[in-house]
Amino acid sequence: MSTALNAERAALDLVPRMKGQGYAGECVERRRAWVEEKTGCRLTHVGAYSIPSEEMRGNVENPVGAAQMPLGVAGPLVVNGQHARGTFYVPLATTEGALVRSYERGMAALARGGGATARVYVDENRVSPIFSFDDVGDAHDFALSLEEEFDAIRAEAEATTRHGKLLRLECLPVGRDCIVNFCYHTADAQGMNMIVKATEAACRWIMPRSRARRFHVFSGYSSEKRASGVLLAGGKGKKVVAGARLPAKVVSAYMHTTPERMCDMWHQTMLGHVQANAIGYNGHYANGLAAVFIACGQDVANIVNSSVGVTNFEVTGEGNLYASVTLPSLTVATVGGGTQLGTSRECLEMLGCAGAGRAPKFAEIVAAALLAGELSMGAAIASGEFVQAHETYGRNRPEEVSSER
Ligand code: NAP
Repeated sequence: MSTALNAERAALDLVPRMKGQGYAGECVERRRAWVEEKTGCRLTHVGAYSIPSEEMRGNVENPVGAAQMPLGVAGPLVVNGQHARGTFYVPLATTEGALVRSYERGMAALARGGGATARVYVDENRVSPIFSFDDVGDAHDFALSLEEEFDAIRAEAEATTRHGKLLRLECLPVGRDCIVNFCYHTADAQGMNMIVKATEAACRWIMPRSRARRFHVFSGYSSEKRASGVLLAGGKGKKVVAGARLPAKVVSAYMHTTPERMCDMWHQTMLGHVQANAIGYNGHYANGLAAVFIACGQDVANIVNSSVGVTNFEVTGEGNLYASVTLPSLTVATVGGGTQLGTSRECLEMLGCAGAGRAPKFAEIVAAALLAGELSMGAAIASGEFVQAHETYGRNRPEEVSSER
């Protein structure tokens, strides 16, 4: 970067300074004014926010304000979980008209059917470094030796964190390299900052005690924020399942279809998923996840791994509908990341999920909300009402205006 440009950036305080003046209100204002001048664009809405700018530290660099999204609420969502029990009103931040109404319809149907049962099976996160060796024999010996060293490796990793717990190591040899899954419990945090730091410390301890030539702390296997088949087996967040039995008369009254037509729709659209080589099967997990994640201060990029999963619709022996969602890699947090920012905190509080000890409860609520979304969308397709619903709630045709600025 040229000296002149560096000087300009520093003068305008675009680079946050060591002592943190970069986050003070007047710095944010000056930076925003600088952008307005450079781009000729008025940032009235970007500059109108209530989050104290000092609290953005650790969440964003070069702050100029805040992006705002419309926030709706859907409910009542009745959840019979192990951690979440009762009735919830779910905050959804979105610009997709019809989305909140659709989730709400599914929630109403679930409530009439007695609510959604939800369970957390697995609660962990992983980092997967890769170690390189001179030959296959060295990689093999390394893989065998790690188990013996586990207690010492765990001590090194856990020395960097109060809440992270190393559960196990899984070796995946590839040629003369060895990928190692470091699998952790991260309590109520998403945990990536926590466990990458812990894993790097452990790897540095391992290196001089092994014949590894080098390591990279990320191998790509962990599938953080990337879709992959391995996510279906879990390991990247919480494995959560939610399901519900809906009487045929509820399916008819609330969703204008029948259990049989829902299953027929499921069967046919499964063919499309197979043809597309989809990972799993679901209608639109990403919709509900995006809306809840934005509202509740989650790392939105984790939607990529969280939206891998399987929706199932079945007709029961009594002619009712059994619907379920299985989310093997749901990454949610109630502590750390963006969860403490003003609007995020309020939305988590709306669910009774702010702070320590609440992440499994939040995961069960999210799974139940996604079940509602799958039911409603499935029914809209099965009944032929999908397009009309969007015409009614979800259109925003712009006025015909000249594109010249
Ligand atoms: P963080 O905000 O960096 O740290 C949260 C910390 O809160 C934890 O490390 C933990 O400290 C502490 N804590 C206090 N009470 C806790 C509780 N009840 N449960 C768990 N932790 C508690 O958050 P993070 O979860 O470690 O990392 C998430 C952030 O990492 C997100 O902002 C995400 O965008 C970012 N991220 C980082 C990477 C990366 O590779 N570094 C990758 C993707 C995303 P102790 O560790 O001392 O216990």
